[in-house]
Amino acid sequence: MRKPFICGNWKMNKNVDEAEKMINNLKAKVKDVDNVEMGICSTALCLTTVKEAAQGSELVTGAENIYWKDSGAYTGEISAKMLAASDIEYTIVGHSERREIFGESDYEVNKKVLSALAHGVKPIICVGETLEERKAEQIEAKVNFQVDSALAGLTEAEVADLVIAYEPIWAIGTGETASAEEANRVIGIIRENIRKEYPEAADKVRIQYGGSVKPHNVEEIMAQPEIDGALVGGASLEAESFSEIILKTA
Ligand code: PGA
Repeated sequence: MRKPFICGNWKMNKNVDEAEKMINNLKAKVKDVDNVEMGICSTALCLTTVKEAAQGSELVTGAENIYWKDSGAYTGEISAKMLAASDIEYTIVGHSERREIFGESDYEVNKKVLSALAHGVKPIICVGETLEERKAEQIEAKVNFQVDSALAGLTEAEVADLVIAYEPIWAIGTGETASAEEANRVIGIIRENIRKEYPEAADKVRIQYGGSVKPHNVEEIMAQPEIDGALVGGASLEAESFSEIILKTA
C-alpha cells in the first residue's frame, strides 16, 4: 500500500521567525499521526529552521527547487548535494510556477530529478495542463509528455520511490479544484503511462493531487483510489488549516 503524503509548499512566503512558529504549532497538532507522511517545502532561507523546528516529530522537509550542478559559479542557486548535507529529504522539481515564470523546460526538470536522486534527495515532480490544453483535450498528451521527460534515465527502483504531483495549472491558487473524480482519472492515466516502461514501479509511485486543496475538500480528494496525497500551497501556510488537512487524511 502507498502511504499518503500531504506536503506543504510555502512558495515565497514566511521569514525565519514565522517558519519556526508555524512548525512548532503544527507539530503539536499532528503529533499522533502515523499513517500519513507529512512534509513542508520552504524557501532555501527557511530550510534549516524548518528542519530544526521539526525535530522530535514525523515532519519531513523539502526545498522548492534545486539546480542540477553540485556546486560552482551559479549565483543564486542551491544544489541537491547541499540539501543532502543538511538532511533535507525532498525537493519539488518542475512546479508550474517555475516552468511558467522562470522558463524551466522539461529537459531541465529531468536534469534536476537525476541530480536529486544522485544525492538521495527525493524529487516531487510537478506536472499539469493549462486551461487551454484542457479545453483542447490535450490533458493526457501534456501530462504524459511531462512525466516521460522527467523520468528519462531513471531506474525502476528510483521511479518506485518517487513522488509525482498532478497539479492542473488552472486550479493552483484559484480556489478552483479539479473534481475529485477528474483528478483521480488523470492520475490514473499518469500511472498507466508509467506502467508501460516501469511495470513494477507503477503501483508503488505516489501521485499527489495539487491545486486549491483545503480542509473542506481534502476528504473527497483523498477518498479517490489513485490519489496518494496532496501538494498544498495556500492552505499549508497556517498550522490550523494544514493540520486539519492532515488530520482529515489520517
Ligand atoms: P494552492 O497551490 O494549494 O495554493 O492552489 C498548490 C501548489 O502550487 O502546489
